[in-house]
Amino acid sequence: MKTIGYAAKSSDAHMVPYHFERRNLRDNDVSIEILYSGVCHSDLHTVNGDWGDQPYPLVPGHEIVGKVIDVGSQVSKYKVGDHVAVGCMVDSCQTCDQCENHEEQFCRDGMTPTYGAPDRQTGEITQGGYSKHIVAREEFVMRVPDSLDMARTAPILCAGITTYTPLKKFGVKQGSRVGVIGLGGLGHMAVKLAVAMGAEVTVLSRSAKKEQEAKNIGASGILVSDDKEAMEASANAFDVIIDTVPVKHDLNPYTPLLDIDGTLVIVGQIGPMEEPITAPLVLGRRRVAGSLIGGIKETQEVLDFCAEHNIHPECKMINADEVNDAFAHLEKGDVAHRFVIDMSSLSVDA
Ligand SMILES: [Zn+2]
Ligand SMILES: [Zn+2]
Repeated sequence: MKTIGYAAKSSDAHMVPYHFERRNLRDNDVSIEILYSGVCHSDLHTVNGDWGDQPYPLVPGHEIVGKVIDVGSQVSKYKVGDHVAVGCMVDSCQTCDQCENHEEQFCRDGMTPTYGAPDRQTGEITQGGYSKHIVAREEFVMRVPDSLDMARTAPILCAGITTYTPLKKFGVKQGSRVGVIGLGGLGHMAVKLAVAMGAEVTVLSRSAKKEQEAKNIGASGILVSDDKEAMEASANAFDVIIDTVPVKHDLNPYTPLLDIDGTLVIVGQIGPMEEPITAPLVLGRRRVAGSLIGGIKETQEVLDFCAEHNIHPECKMINADEVNDAFAHLEKGDVAHRFVIDMSSLSVDA
């Protein structure tokens, strides 16, 4: 199938229109017309080559919602017209202990990311959601509940699951005290999800600039990380801190904010960090952990959770040709929402 997307042609190039082919349907494949695609900070990291050399041209995007336009002969879960979603991975071995345990992101054989990796059967490089169509095997396609607004659903597929999984894993429940470092795409979803779980949520930020935005989405307020007195007064104040900062930074100001047995979870930065001071960890049995997206079953669960609690990400709709501007904003870190590409702005005939 002929389609069109926006691709990076090299690590220093801008995103440009790119015509390419999607594979013919296999028996267990679902063919999707993409309606909306979220712009994740990791798309920017990846096309910039920050996480290693990439197979260019590369179409990023792993927050995908759309409608089914065709299905393979063995597909049983979906039919033409269904509203569906694809997230950060499109395949895995399906037989190892992690896959059997619904943790395909930790597949022992390596999961296949939605873009930039060889297809398990053909070796062809996968291409992501900044495009008009995608073909994916049915096991990696999720259903979008009817009550979710399709135009404001895409960011749940990465920002949502990336924060939902650690909140659940580290026991956030009614009355938990949760801190969220950073109020971008991941951070604002962490706030909304933790609030819906019944937690008291505080945003940690370098300034109080986004205080109103934080309150608007249910946080009790902002703890300014540069305010030494306020930080000292907040010692032991959190059970879980979700750290969404996507660049190298210093955890040492944050670990003393955890209560005994508290956990700080890194979900944004994959790479170097400032050297840790271990005293707060040892003296309070505090933990620093990491977390990577979530399995397919849990991704369906967060979609259903958002539908049940009427949670939508804060989205700013852009046309496909505005994606370079969106990247520039992400680079500056000045947005408290997710950019979402409206794919009706792209035409295969263009
Ligand atoms: Zn992402
Ligand atoms: Zn596996």
